[in-house]
Amino acid sequence: MVVPSAAPASEDLFQRAQRVVPGGVNSPVRAFRAVGGTPRFMVGGEGPRLVDADGRSYVDLVCSWGPMILGHAHPDVVAAITAAAARGTSFGTPTPGEVELAELIVDRIRPVEQVRLVNSGTEATMSAIRLARGFTGRSTVVKFAGCYHGHVDALLASAGSGVATLGLPDTPGVTGAATADTIVLPYNDLDLVKATFAERGDSIAAVITEAVAANMGVVPPLPGFNAGLRRLCDSYGALLVFDEVMTGFRVSSTGWWGLEGAEQGWAPDLFTFGKVMGGGLPAAAFGGRADVMARLAPAGPVYQAGTLSGNPLAVAAGLATLRACTDEVYATVDARAADVAGIVSTALTEQGVPHLLNSAGSLFSVFFTEAAAVVDYAGAKQQTSERYAAFFHTMLDGGVYLPPSAFEAWFVSAAHDDEAVERIAAVAPAAARAAAAVEAGSELVGGGAA
Ligand code: PLP
Repeated sequence: MVVPSAAPASEDLFQRAQRVVPGGVNSPVRAFRAVGGTPRFMVGGEGPRLVDADGRSYVDLVCSWGPMILGHAHPDVVAAITAAAARGTSFGTPTPGEVELAELIVDRIRPVEQVRLVNSGTEATMSAIRLARGFTGRSTVVKFAGCYHGHVDALLASAGSGVATLGLPDTPGVTGAATADTIVLPYNDLDLVKATFAERGDSIAAVITEAVAANMGVVPPLPGFNAGLRRLCDSYGALLVFDEVMTGFRVSSTGWWGLEGAEQGWAPDLFTFGKVMGGGLPAAAFGGRADVMARLAPAGPVYQAGTLSGNPLAVAAGLATLRACTDEVYATVDARAADVAGIVSTALTEQGVPHLLNSAGSLFSVFFTEAAAVVDYAGAKQQTSERYAAFFHTMLDGGVYLPPSAFEAWFVSAAHDDEAVERIAAVAPAAARAAAAVEAGSELVGGGAA
C-alpha cells in the first residue's frame, strides 16, 4: 500500500489552489491524480535539485518536462534573463535577439531554412498544421495514437501525455468538426499509413509525428518508420511535420533529426521546437523549407501572429541555453541518463518487478509491464500503473522527484552530478521493493488514476 508522506505546506497551498484554480493546477499532470497524494509546490531550484514549500530537497528527474537541460538557475541563463529584463520586458517590435535565435536554429538544423518564434509547443504545432494546409490546399492531417502535440483541438484525438495520464477517451469542448479532418493511426505501423495514403492520399495535407514518441512513455520509432513517412509524403505531395518540441536540442544539438534523418539523408518539410530552446521561459518555434514558410503572413497569406512572440526575456534564455549546450553537455546528459536508467532497471530486476526500459538518446522511461516490447499506444497502456505509483512515492519520500505519471519521459540535466546519481541509487532499491509489494490491479491510496 502506498501511503504518501505528509507535506503540510504543500497540502495547505493545494487546498488554497483548489478553491481558485481548477483542480488546483495550471496543467493537469501536475495534480498527481495518476499517482495519488499531494503535489509538491516548488519554491526554488538549483542545478539538479528542486526545493519544495516544506523545505525538502529533491533530485529532479522531470526538469520542467524537458527544458532544463543545463539544470536549474544556470548562471549564464540567469545572467542573460536579468540583463534582458533590465533593458525592458516586451516591446512589440522586432528585436536583435530574435534574429540571433532564428540564425542559431537555422545554423544547427540544416533543413530549417526559415523559422518563426511562438510562445508554446502547442502554438508551434497548431501553426505548422495551418501552414501545411494552406500550402497544400488540402485538409486532412494524419497523426499517431499516443503522440501528443499540445492541446491543439484538431490533434487532441488519441493524444498522449495528460490525456493518457487521466485516461480521457476524448475531450469535451473539441467538436467533431475540429477533428473531422484528423486521421489517427497506430504509431510505428507503416503499412497502415501506406494503406491510408492509397485511399485518401489526395486529401492529406500533412503527417505529423513526434520525432520520437515520448508522451506515452518513450516509444522510439522502429527502424525505417520515420524514413517511410518521408517517402509516403513525397509520393503523395503531403508535408511531413516533425514534432521536435521534446527532442529538439535535447537529444543532440541537431535534435532527433540529426541522429536519424541527417544520417540517412532525408529531412522533414516542417519542424516544431519548444522546451530546451526557450531555456525555461515560454518560447517555441516552427520552421522548415523556405518555400513553405514563405506562405506565412506577412510574406504570404497564411495568418499567424502573437503579442509576445519572440519575447526578449524568452529569447535571451533560449540563446543562453543553446549557446551553453556544448558537445560536452550532450555527452554528460547521455551518460547521466544511462546511469539513472541502469540504476532503476537493476533495482527493479533485483526485486523481480516486470518492467521494460525504453530509450531514445537521452530520453527514457520505464514501463511496468511484462511485455517484451512496447511499440505503440496499445502496448503502452498495458502497464501496471499502480506499481508505478508505489515506486514514485517511495522515490519522492527519499528525495527524488519523478514524473507523476507512468506515461511521461524522465529527464536528466548536465547538472546531475555524482551526488544526485548517488541519491537515486540509494532510494531505488526501496522503491523497487514498494513496487514489488503492489498486486497488479490493486487500488491506489490517496488518489488514483482519475
Ligand atoms: N509537442 C510535443 C512532442 C510535446 O511533448 C509537447 C508538450 O509536452 C507539446 C508539443 C506541447 O508543448 P507546450 O506544452 O509547450 O504547449
